[in-house]
Amino acid sequence: MGVLMRPELRIDPDRLRANIGELQRRVHPADVMIVVKDDAYGHGARWVARAAVAAGLEWIGTYDIRTAVALRDTVGAAPRLFAWATSGDDEIVEGVLSGIDLGVGTPEYLERIISVARRLGARARIHLKIDTGLHRNGFAPDEWEQGVHEALQAQEAGHVELVGAWSHLAEASDAEDDDAAEIFRAAVDAARAAGADIAHTHLTASAATWARPELRGDLVRVGAFCYGIRSADGPELPGIAPVARLVADTTAVDGDEAVIGVGSFDGLPSILAGRIDVGTPDGPCRLLAVEADSCRVRAWPGARVGDEVVVFGPGDAGESSATTLAEAVGTVGEEILTRLSPRVRRVHG
Ligand SMILES: *Cc1c(COP(=O)(O)O)cnc(C)c1O
Repeated sequence: MGVLMRPELRIDPDRLRANIGELQRRVHPADVMIVVKDDAYGHGARWVARAAVAAGLEWIGTYDIRTAVALRDTVGAAPRLFAWATSGDDEIVEGVLSGIDLGVGTPEYLERIISVARRLGARARIHLKIDTGLHRNGFAPDEWEQGVHEALQAQEAGHVELVGAWSHLAEASDAEDDDAAEIFRAAVDAARAAGADIAHTHLTASAATWARPELRGDLVRVGAFCYGIRSADGPELPGIAPVARLVADTTAVDGDEAVIGVGSFDGLPSILAGRIDVGTPDGPCRLLAVEADSCRVRAWPGARVGDEVVVFGPGDAGESSATTLAEAVGTVGEEILTRLSPRVRRVHG
């Protein structure tokens, strides 16, 4: 067996498809928007976007406009690409010309989108965001009516098309999320009463999408669970499993310790040492130390140079999930994935 020069993040297209299918089944008749921010949580946004569209998804959420514009080439004209970062005018121009759906969370941003669209002689498709309590971004409830009014005026003038209303939940407690959902519903009702044809309402991310069907709009924005990353301290997810596994080769065996070719330079938190098991040809074995470009692992019977070790993944070799690693060190599974350096080769398929 050849020794890997670099650790690999192996990404399983069948598993991604299965997770998407499970989410679609669960949220039907709502649509799933797959969130591909942070390079699809380290899985590769371009590849994920292509796979998601092939699996039948019509919506992709990117966070920023530049990524959405880049993905337009990848996925073609039909899929909806939603970018919600408040952006500079140059990016708005690109977004409008590429048919990106823009999330709009401040009166000032709405003004700029309208004036850019007017200048271009093009129509910007917009989704207004109501602040339901996170106070990060979004029209305050007392700004909402005016925002809707301005959007509708600009729509009549041909500069925008107001197609959506959305917000983001804290997902910290059911009671808080209920209060937020109440504010959200009132905002959607007010916009409709003012004459807006709100075709898309979206409020929930992974955790609330999964557990709170009554809070789903007709569209849900899901990142983590598409990739099989369950919530830290959250429930197991029947039908959902990790898409990615981090694999390194054994580079040396020294008595009762084996050395594997992945380390903190690759993004592994060194405080994982002594807290987790990795998957070896003989099942789970203790991770003993995380060094710069290697780890030491309790050796398994018959350990040899070239043996593959799985640091995290779906569990086939006895390894834990990224979220279980994260729980051992007080973080979230997303961070274990997004911290992996570019030196880790992404292998799709
Ligand atoms: C990241 C993000 C999501 C997806 O969150 P997950 O918990 O990964 O599903 C959805 N909406 C917004 C606005 C986000 O920033």
